[in-house]
Amino acid sequence: MNLEKTKCIVCSAETTIIKELPKEMIGKMLSQRGILDSISELGVVDYKLHKCNECNLEFSQPMQEATSAFYKAIIEKNNGYYPKFRWEWGKITELLQQEIRQNQSTPSLLDVGCGGGDFLDFITKNSNRVNAIGIDSTPHSIEICKSKNIKAICCDLSEFNETNKGRVDIITLWHVLEHVSSPTEIINMAQESLNDNGSLFFSVPLSPASYEILELDPLNLPPHHLTRWSIKSLEKIALVSGMSFNYYTPKPESFIYRVVRSLIVISDNSFGEKNKAKKLINLIKLLIKNPSYLFKSVKKQLDYSSRPDLILVRLTKPRLM
Ligand SMILES: [Zn+2]
Repeated sequence: MNLEKTKCIVCSAETTIIKELPKEMIGKMLSQRGILDSISELGVVDYKLHKCNECNLEFSQPMQEATSAFYKAIIEKNNGYYPKFRWEWGKITELLQQEIRQNQSTPSLLDVGCGGGDFLDFITKNSNRVNAIGIDSTPHSIEICKSKNIKAICCDLSEFNETNKGRVDIITLWHVLEHVSSPTEIINMAQESLNDNGSLFFSVPLSPASYEILELDPLNLPPHHLTRWSIKSLEKIALVSGMSFNYYTPKPESFIYRVVRSLIVISDNSFGEKNKAKKLINLIKLLIKNPSYLFKSVKKQLDYSSRPDLILVRLTKPRLM
């Protein structure tokens, strides 16, 4: 029997198991919400959710990423999986514009996992001084970028670093960290690409999300998200990487919105469905069956008042003396 304890993947402290996630349970949660009909053939394994006793990071055991078949099935079933706009894109543009004006600079920007180039398109249109390029390991994404005249290369960060170490001013990594099996490794690689005083900007969901107060969201659990971050655990990964830490959060959603959304996590069986009436009917059905959920949700949201569900982190590489 293996008695070795699972240590935190960021700070190596002891951890506690907070949830057992057999694959049958994961499959049931995903199908109940209409995210996937079935997970068979999608390579899902049994997971446990650990929480670090020191930095609060929640991470899965094993740290086994979802298969490409799993992502393909989710993307095919739920159009709108990739949002056309993110709050953090607006925020980083605002921050960079300020710095460009102050320093009269023309920063280079590398978007890691650029997909079809929606962010690169946004930043180029809104900040003409930024010299932006993307990388993605999916050839199809690069073809889409090229058809839109967006500069992009088909490679991963370690391949990019073979010829470009220490040359980038800004790296962006939108909603990648929570999906990967080795978040510290990707941060170290990003640090290698940056020049001195360069910054890595990344965004992750802040856990537990305000809509997870009554029940956890299966899309914020393994195999989809292998890590769940708090401000404390993000501060820790900055410390471990030797970079300085800053963060920004959007304005939290309104109280009513948060109550409704936390109830939808339980009642919704049509995740990809755009028809709001259908979601409302499911919500009403749930409340008729279990009226106490409404009171529970209101109470929890009062306790968790003003909680944003998203964080934009900026890690800056120290300047060499
Ligand atoms: Zn830790």
